[in-house]
Amino acid sequence: MFTLISLPYALDALQPIVSAQTLSFHYGKHLQAYVDNLNKLIAGTEFENMPLEEIVCKSSGAIFNNAGQMLNHNLYFTQFSPVSANNHAPQGVLLDAIVRDFGSLDNFKTEFEQKGTTLFGSGWVWLSVDKEGKLVITQESNAQNPVTKGLRPLLTMDVWEHAYYLDYQNRRAAHLQALWDIINWEEIERRYVA
Ligand code: MN
Repeated sequence: MFTLISLPYALDALQPIVSAQTLSFHYGKHLQAYVDNLNKLIAGTEFENMPLEEIVCKSSGAIFNNAGQMLNHNLYFTQFSPVSANNHAPQGVLLDAIVRDFGSLDNFKTEFEQKGTTLFGSGWVWLSVDKEGKLVITQESNAQNPVTKGLRPLLTMDVWEHAYYLDYQNRRAAHLQALWDIINWEEIERRYVA
């Protein structure tokens, strides 16, 4: 049985970038539904006691969609901290790798936002690390996650409309640009060095 993750902050802690209303629907309704659906779908199947990432890599159809969305949202919701926190810039080995692979932090952010803005339909834009240790940005449609391509996901932005429509309506680019102010880069670095 999978359970809903706990948020490492209060529902109103990400305002004004993400409203408490958006978070209450996105986390409390959308993610909860993916968890509940996945538990129903895997009961009595070969996936019942499998780790979540393994289900994402081995399943298809409805099980894949719900497992993928659960994994995506678990990584998404645990990568934020309030605007007032002191961890909204990458440092150390992770900053070095970003400069090495994208030229500069600004270049990385521009490319990441551009990939998120141009992703057609619903999906996710990801920063991952490949098997050679290189950082890569990928666009993933719907419930896809970079683990299915052998990548290790570090950072993501959700471009499904449910992630931003209450606060930003059709202004996806403005939402993505604003999210940098709540990214917890200590958590991203922890994932990078893990
Ligand atoms: Mn979402």
